[in-house]
Amino acid sequence: MDIIVLEPGTSDVNIRHIIKKLESKGLKTHVSQGTERTIIGVIGDTSKVTEEEEDAIRAMTGVENVVRILKPYKLASRDFKKENSEIKVRNITIGGKKIHVMAGPCAVENKTILFGIAEKVKNAGATILRGGAFKPRTSPYSFQGLGEEGLKYLADARDKFGLAIVTELMDTKEMDVIMKYTDIIQIGARNMQNFKLLLEVGSIDKPVLLKRGLSATIKEWLMSAEYIMSRGNQNVMLCERGIRTFETATRNTLDLSAVPLLKQMTHLPIVVDPSHGVGKRDLVAPMARAAIAAGADALMIEVHTNPEEALSDGEQSLKPDAFTRLMSELKPIAQAIGREI
Ligand code: PEP
Ligand code: MN
Repeated sequence: MDIIVLEPGTSDVNIRHIIKKLESKGLKTHVSQGTERTIIGVIGDTSKVTEEEEDAIRAMTGVENVVRILKPYKLASRDFKKENSEIKVRNITIGGKKIHVMAGPCAVENKTILFGIAEKVKNAGATILRGGAFKPRTSPYSFQGLGEEGLKYLADARDKFGLAIVTELMDTKEMDVIMKYTDIIQIGARNMQNFKLLLEVGSIDKPVLLKRGLSATIKEWLMSAEYIMSRGNQNVMLCERGIRTFETATRNTLDLSAVPLLKQMTHLPIVVDPSHGVGKRDLVAPMARAAIAAGADALMIEVHTNPEEALSDGEQSLKPDAFTRLMSELKPIAQAIGREI
């Protein structure tokens, strides 16, 4: 017993009564008020609920059906919520008709460079500024990010250019400082299965961008989203950023088939990051176009005004003029599939 589908028009009193009954069995609930139906998701170890207990719930006023979900993820599943989830960030909505683009440098390097990039991506039509202040670098000798100073520059850029901001949280220790500045919290590929971190961001109210782990299956990825959602935070978006395969000609293999597949499996918005997906500047635009055609709700693209001098990921960063060109190329593709950008 995992989902309780209610009859249309079930009163709040009856809903509360059903919830109380479930809670008396040590289970938690999450009510999803859809346009057509209200559904109660049952959270916790539902395997211990006996068939008799399940029948008793089925007999309660307002209950239309009790469904057992065989999938290990529940709150993230399409079975649980038919409508696409829309995530509100400042004055924008991710997961609706409009496709949003998050753009900016891999790392925040200094205020002048960040502002230069922010102005260019804003003028090209991006609505969200990206930039790492705490960087998960492969080498301990590489630039690790500016920390709080970088977060301050991001917040200043938000105020000046009217862009929402997204930045990575690497460690629970940095939660407070990240919360103070960011609009969206990014969980990086290397932390997709850092379950403590997932539970932490599950108990806050800011949207989370959950990147796919380097070698994670789609199921593992959805289970990580479930970790966050099980704590209460339903504002999760999934970001495909390429996976490890035997192929070494590209940095990763961008799994675009994950996009339409995830659309069937989950109601959560899907973001595609072609920059880390391919690792090569020339391949970013074609894969960004393909991602929109495949149904992505948003893109994350690395842009730098001077990629040759970038402190990280310069080889995959677009220059502003190439980014501007890409943004205009994306328009007719979005239109062709009934969306806008
Ligand atoms: C990034 O967005 O700069 C980043 C480090 O991404 P990922 O976690 O996907 O490697
Ligand atoms: Mn990067």
